Order: sequence, then structure tokens, then C-alpha cells
Amino acid sequence: MNIVLFGPPGSGKGTQAKLLAEKYGVPHISTGDILRGNLNNETKLGLEAKTYMDKGELVPDDVLIGLIKDRLSDSDCASGFLLDGYPRTLPQAEALSKILSELGKNLDVVLNIDVPDEKLLKRLAGRRMCVCGASYHILFNKPKQEGICDLCGSKLYQRDDDKEEAIMNRLVVYQNQTRPLIDHYTQAGVMLTINGAADIEVVFNGICRMLDDLRK
Ligand code: ADP
Ligand code: ADP
Ligand code: ZN
Repeated sequence: MNIVLFGPPGSGKGTQAKLLAEKYGVPHISTGDILRGNLNNETKLGLEAKTYMDKGELVPDDVLIGLIKDRLSDSDCASGFLLDGYPRTLPQAEALSKILSELGKNLDVVLNIDVPDEKLLKRLAGRRMCVCGASYHILFNKPKQEGICDLCGSKLYQRDDDKEEAIMNRLVVYQNQTRPLIDHYTQAGVMLTINGAADIEVVFNGICRMLDDLRK
């Protein structure tokens, strides 16, 4: 299945995508993770993206469109993919349809993870990351040992854009530039909304039920 996980920052896209990728064996494509990987390796792309990411602004569309075109052409996407954090603007959504049709694929579903604003701030401010890609929450998804990754034992860190000022900006950017895609995909008839305010496992089970229904 070709799936887009959609939702505001902190709605749980990354968390759910990791669980879904494991269960269904499809690649998890997170544009945020790809950009952060480039940043860590100090590539040209990473250096260009950094100024936007630090402020919580969107990286320009042409950069993202090129990146996603390359990634979706990879052979591991042949039997499906899970997009997390793309598209975030209308031009990105339009580019995605074009890329998919060129590759002879289509989008099966856009899953909109719906979470009230007041929860988003708490989730983002308490998020802790690991270099291995794992993510935790200081209250809602604690590692076994405080500050240490369960999977690889590295020290957890807080993303620069998970500090309060950048968070507020990201939520405004979401409202202005990304949220309008809900109408776009509703009109296209591929949008399903899931209540993302519940516990991680409850949300996961809900999504699995929806996907299993679609596959019948
Ligand atoms: P996104 O990728 O949409 O920005 P994440 O999956 O990184 O969101 O989740 C943001 C933070 O909230 C993380 O710290 C994560 O552990 C936590 N989180 C994710 N889903 C839930 C949930 N259903 N309930 C409580 N906390 C959650
Ligand atoms: P979130 O927790 O908000 O879901 P991500 O890890 O998806 O964060 O994205 C982090 C940052 O990377 C964004 O604030 C933005 O600067 C950049 N980014 C990621 N995906 C995109 C995209 N599709 N378009 C533009 N910028 C993006
Ligand atoms: Zn780790």
C-alpha cells in the first residue's frame, strides 16, 4: 500500500510510521529524518536546509520535491511506502501525484492523525531523540533508563526545533501551509481521519484496523 501519514508536528506520525513499517514491511520515508541525516553529514543539502529547520520554517519545495522523487524511485518502494512529513504544501502534493503517475503508482490513502493543539505542544516539548532514529517522550513514552536509548544505548537529545519558540512557529506554519491539504485530499477521496489523542498503542490499533479494512 502507498500511504501518506499526515498531521501536525507532534501528532505521532513518526511514532506510528515506525510501528507500521515494522508490521507491514514497507519502507518508512521521513523527510525530516532524511534532512537531519544530511545535516549531520554536513552535505550541501543539509547546510541549505539547516537555516529553515532551525527556525521551524519549511525547506523550499523544489528541494523536497527532488528528494522525494529520488527516494520513491528506489526499488524498496516497489511494493509500497509510508510517507511521513511529506507533502506539507499544495505544490508538494501536486508534485507527488505527478511523480507517482510517472512511476505508474497511485496513492491509496492519506491518514490524517488528528490531535488537539494543546496536546501538541506538550508532546513536542517532551520529545527526546536518539541518533539511531528512535524517539521517546519524557512522560508518554519513556525509555527504560532515563536519557538512554532502549535500542542502541546512546544518550538521548532534544531537537533544536523542539524548543518552545520554534515549536510555536512550526504550529503556525502547519496551520497556514499544510492544513489546507486536508481539503485537497478530502476532495480527492483518499483522506481518512484517525483520532490521535489516545495512547500510542490505541492509535496504532485503530490505524491497523483502517488499513486492514482497506486491503479487503
Ligand atoms: P511527529 O512525527 O508527528 O512530529 P512523533 O511521532 O515524533 O510526532 O511524536 C511526538 C512526541 O509525542 C514524541 O515524543 C512521541 O513519543 C510522543 N507521542 C507520539 N504519539 C503519542 C501518543 N499517542 N500519546 C502520547 N505521546 C505520543
Ligand atoms: P515534525 O516533528 O514537525 O513532524 P519533521 O521531522 O517532519 O518534524 O520535520 C522537521 C523539519 O524539517 C521541518 O520543520 C521542516 O523545516 C523540514 N521539513 C521536513 N519535511 C518537510 C517538507 N515536506 N517540506 C518542507 N520542509 C520539511
Ligand atoms: Zn538509539
